[in-house]
Amino acid sequence: MNVCETCFKECKKSFSKAFCSDRCRFLYYAQRYNDLPSYDCWNWRGKIGRDGYAFIMIQGKRIRAHRYSHRMFYRDHDPNLLVLHSCDNKSCVNPMHLRQGTVQDNSNDFGKSQGHRKGKSVNTCKLDELDVKNIRKLYALGSNTQKSLATMFNVSQNAISYIIRRINWKHV
Ligand SMILES: [Zn+2]
Ligand SMILES: [Zn+2]
Repeated sequence: MNVCETCFKECKKSFSKAFCSDRCRFLYYAQRYNDLPSYDCWNWRGKIGRDGYAFIMIQGKRIRAHRYSHRMFYRDHDPNLLVLHSCDNKSCVNPMHLRQGTVQDNSNDFGKSQGHRKGKSVNTCKLDELDVKNIRKLYALGSNTQKSLATMFNVSQNAISYIIRRINWKHV
């Protein structure tokens, strides 16, 4: 018997390392020991394809790790849509940096990342819906203050407070 590299449960070894589950296999290569949300990119230490995307072996099949991440974390994952990055890091597998969209959304993103993507600041209209959802999620976890979220998202503390109290972005 071997022990799982992620959770140390006893399990059988398949491929080069022992994992008790696909979830643990994913978390190990994502350099995480739990699946709690965090704002930083989850950088893949496993294989990266020639196209720059991380990949993982699940039941003997090679699949894109960011796609697997989205499927694992989001109950409303739609297999017909692409999984897109909201950070500009193709090998990132943090589910909070992933959302689903179409090919068209993907090329819009590329346009965005060339230009004004970096200009997020000052007021809440610089944030997008995903940021707003993430701010509420991170705040709800209790480990982040409004102040730390303001720094994280490069907006004022008031902006964060308005988002959390749903004075702004009521529709999200
Ligand atoms: Zn495990
Ligand atoms: Zn990322």
